[in-house]
Amino acid sequence: MKKETKCIEAGYTPKNGEPRMIPIYQSTTFKYDTSADMGKLFDLEAEGYFYTRLQNPTNDYVAAKIAALEGGTAAMLTSSGQAATFFSVFNLASAGDHVIASSSIYGGSFNLFNVTMRKMCVDFTFVDPDCSDEELEAAFKPNTKCVFGETIANPALIVFDIERFANAAHKHGVPLIIDNTFATPINCRPIEWGADIVTHSTTKYMDGHDATVGGAIVDSGNFDWMAHKDKFPGLCTPDDSYHGITYAEKFGKAGAFITKATAQLMRDLGSIPSPMNCYMLNLGLESLAVRMQRHCENAQKVAEFLQNSDKVAYVTYPGLKGDKYYERAQKYMPDGTCGVISFGVKGGRSSAEEFMKRLKLAIIATHVADAHTCVLHPASSTHRQMTDEELLAGGIKPDMIRLSVGIENVQDIIDDLSQALNA
Ligand code: PLP
Repeated sequence: MKKETKCIEAGYTPKNGEPRMIPIYQSTTFKYDTSADMGKLFDLEAEGYFYTRLQNPTNDYVAAKIAALEGGTAAMLTSSGQAATFFSVFNLASAGDHVIASSSIYGGSFNLFNVTMRKMCVDFTFVDPDCSDEELEAAFKPNTKCVFGETIANPALIVFDIERFANAAHKHGVPLIIDNTFATPINCRPIEWGADIVTHSTTKYMDGHDATVGGAIVDSGNFDWMAHKDKFPGLCTPDDSYHGITYAEKFGKAGAFITKATAQLMRDLGSIPSPMNCYMLNLGLESLAVRMQRHCENAQKVAEFLQNSDKVAYVTYPGLKGDKYYERAQKYMPDGTCGVISFGVKGGRSSAEEFMKRLKLAIIATHVADAHTCVLHPASSTHRQMTDEELLAGGIKPDMIRLSVGIENVQDIIDDLSQALNA
């Protein structure tokens, strides 16, 4: 199936007489005839459901669709993108370990790594995504367990060189994790470029309608954990908390990572999305391919409009010819990047705030990447915990406006921007 077809068909195939639409199993628990039947599930000896904190059929249908879209072997859904980011890293790195992350990532991910996970004694080195080979090489330590980057960084719109970072990670025997939220698998499939694990805030384009917060983790099934046994004892030695199962032996490359994340992390930390939310996420996924195309077409026209305005100081959009990341975007995302643009209005921070107040169609919202056009000033909102130095290291100018171009008629969006700029 091609990606447009997968959006509609993948993950759930009804049998004769079964509902066409994914059924909502809004049940916490599942019934069994004997304790022995249930015991096999607890031992991971048989497949089936027993408690929704671990797994639920509705959630699994949607996870399978996202796995198919990304070209992975297995996926799990989480209650938020933050949980997906945390689980993807914590499934590999614990106290005493080290992780390399791009310095240009979503502010919430930066805070999770730099503050919260440091409290768990996981060490992080943040590298400039455009650092030299020598700088990247120097970041690796004997206890490095993974490398983390974002396909298109929110909000800096820096396109990450996935292939280069994947090669570096693999040379050091560790996997590359890519947050593919902004590009979505419609525009970029990081696994095809060497990424091993892909994460998403499904809250963004995948849901696409401001309806449900959620996250996803997809495993490529390509990383050979057993070949790096000493680095990944959690996957390659018996798990005493799960009846002595060795995930990499029992579930192989294709299933070990997601099974461990489910059996250990979801069991203990419990960030499962509700089946109802997964059902709604699936509605969003069905139209993802057509929406992404429209987001990109609209954003391209809006970016060109802003670029030609004498009231605009600068525009950053990887789809614009001349943008620093245009060539890289053409390599990884030839069909389009995303609907998010960043720009500055002449007059700096105060003009930016004044301009935003005057917008009528575009609303001021923390959110990004959905059907409605919205704007945000990252330095005073999502990234307010960062110092000016940290902001600049992440590619965010203090006067920068993030504009998430929706799928309304593009002329209405341009007219709104135009009247606010003129005012
Ligand atoms: N990753 C990226 C790129 C994001 O933009 C966000 C949220 O904005 C997250 C992760 C966190 O996702 P959530 O808000 O669903 O927890």
